[in-house]
Amino acid sequence: MNSIPGNPDLSFDLEKIRADFPILSRKVHNKPLVYFDNAATTQKPQVVIDTLVEYYSGMNSNVHRGVHYLSVEATSAFEGAREKVRAFVNASSTEEIIFTRGCTEAINLIANSWGGDNINSGDEILISAIEHHSNLVPWQMLCEVRHAKLIVCPVLADGSIDLEVLAGLMSSKTRLLAITHISNTLGTINPVKEITKLAHEKGIVVLIDGAQAMSHLKVNVRDIGCDFYTFSAHKVYGPMGIGGLYGKKDILTAMRPYQGGGEMIKNVTFEKTTFNDLPYKFEAGTPNVSGALGFGAALDYISRIGLDRISAWENELLRYATERFSADPLIKIIGNAPQKSSLISFLIGNIHPYDAGTIIDQFGIAVRTGTHCTQPLMNSLGIPGTIRASFAFYNTKEEIDRLMEAIVKVEELFL
Ligand code: PMP
Repeated sequence: MNSIPGNPDLSFDLEKIRADFPILSRKVHNKPLVYFDNAATTQKPQVVIDTLVEYYSGMNSNVHRGVHYLSVEATSAFEGAREKVRAFVNASSTEEIIFTRGCTEAINLIANSWGGDNINSGDEILISAIEHHSNLVPWQMLCEVRHAKLIVCPVLADGSIDLEVLAGLMSSKTRLLAITHISNTLGTINPVKEITKLAHEKGIVVLIDGAQAMSHLKVNVRDIGCDFYTFSAHKVYGPMGIGGLYGKKDILTAMRPYQGGGEMIKNVTFEKTTFNDLPYKFEAGTPNVSGALGFGAALDYISRIGLDRISAWENELLRYATERFSADPLIKIIGNAPQKSSLISFLIGNIHPYDAGTIIDQFGIAVRTGTHCTQPLMNSLGIPGTIRASFAFYNTKEEIDRLMEAIVKVEELFL
């Protein structure tokens, strides 16, 4: 059992959980793998892998097309997965859940479809300085085409956002606020409900990039009140190549389709096409059915464990790692927001992150090194990048100890 100080009710059988993830028993460089790159992608439990295999070995068929048995079965499983996503984020209806290739495609869908109709010359789109390129570049591209302006809210030295500064940047020209729920680079958890309220008071549409949040904390889109919320299954223990977006029904209804093709139509003549109802209007072509089923299995899996248990252990891992890192005067932690998710970005003395990462890898430890798709943030911090250790609920304190041993080795070699 893991131990949650002050809250034993939230503990769980860590060894049993680890056994659910086949890759965790793998060796790398002849050492047991320590996987600390969970912010890039999470590992998959056996139930998710089984779901993919079972789909292709027993159910494979196209959805929403045929009356034959397999197609009906696959359609029902696919729509069942949509319902799981709806329930997980607490959307009102499955009409508000659109499957995409992932968070990036979800944001591009909104930029193209909503943005194309609602952003005009002179308008402003507001983002923060800690956005992932996925929640920056699509808006930059849109601004260029529509002659609009991208406004960037700076962050405080600890990586958090000053809400007064953010509110001060919301002008009568601001049409959209696109902001991350959790920073993949600094771990900052933004107060998205409060932020949404501030924006809505000024009539600004709000998109929350939830790529990093769904696996760590309970997401409730109705409570947040946002207009759009985007996510990727592979960051939530599900397969790659599937994710999606939540959008409020009235906004989605008013939006034009993103792509044309099969599935998104009601009636087609050479002269004119009428579009399908929600959510299919935004899902042109054959969807990633196996991925959706795997996504549903992943959400079931973490729901069985419970997000309260998951976040309690991840917070304990963060506390432990922060304590151990802080005891080493050569380590500089980048990002100390009071509300922080279970990742630590850091530098060791003046050692380049790539050099450090290469040595750490020799210990069988997977950490991410580089700019983490937040190049402007790194530029503003005046650093070439960071080393990032991002923890999931299957990680252990012993693994953090092993990372510390590797860091000491890096220091011996380079300093
Ligand atoms: N936003 C954030 C905060 C992310 O961390 C990521 C993935 N690193 C994305 C968006 C993009 O997600 P994906 O690559 O799965 O589309």
